[in-house]
Amino acid sequence: MENRQKNYGSVHDTKASMMYNRFLKQYNEWLSGGPIPDTGNQDTKYFLGQQRKRLEKRGLHRDSSIELRGLLASAGAIPPKVGKKYTNVTEFRTAQRNTTYSRGGRIIGKFRKKEILYQTITFANEATVDGTEPCTCPSCGAVSQIKALFEGCPYCHTRFLMQDLYPKVANFYSIEDLSYSKEEIKRTLTPWCGGGAVIFTVFMLAYLAWERAKTGDPLTLYSMICPLIGYPLIGASADICCLP
Ligand SMILES: [Zn+2]
Repeated sequence: MENRQKNYGSVHDTKASMMYNRFLKQYNEWLSGGPIPDTGNQDTKYFLGQQRKRLEKRGLHRDSSIELRGLLASAGAIPPKVGKKYTNVTEFRTAQRNTTYSRGGRIIGKFRKKEILYQTITFANEATVDGTEPCTCPSCGAVSQIKALFEGCPYCHTRFLMQDLYPKVANFYSIEDLSYSKEEIKRTLTPWCGGGAVIFTVFMLAYLAWERAKTGDPLTLYSMICPLIGYPLIGASADICCLP
């Protein structure tokens, strides 16, 4: 099963979902010291670059990973923001982030956090974008018109195709998630419910055996099973069905 949230039903759904997963993979690599994700737009790349510099400046080493946890128990989708020239699609998934900070080889902090990770992906509306729009060169960061970047950036001379410029992840953030994903509910609660049923049965049998022992009646299988079914259904009065 594809590990994704329900979509809103917009034309960008499939592409947005692919972009989400690509950015997540690159972001994960970046967290372990890999390159800055090229699926991010200039702002996102700048932000990630600054964050790494700040950690280095403080002499901190970070070991971090983020993994998807499954589908949110409650279905939901955020409607895309459709503008004249651009459309922003927000996708989100449940995730688990594990982070360890160390300084000089000594671990100084460990964090495990369940979160919902949001990504906003910007698409260019190709019917209305005519090429005169300003765009940041993904290679050197200088701002030129889109059509100039097709012919070669005036500053670094790199040529781009439309798919190199859009769609891009324009923003991402996460909020703490205190709930369980559908997969976690199945994994966590099922054994608990099963265990609960077993404990209940054992207690009921022990109780009935004790009751029988008091009256001196022989403990037969029939006398045990009958109230076991009856008690939870209609209460202690079910015992009547076992009277001689
Ligand atoms: Zn350039």
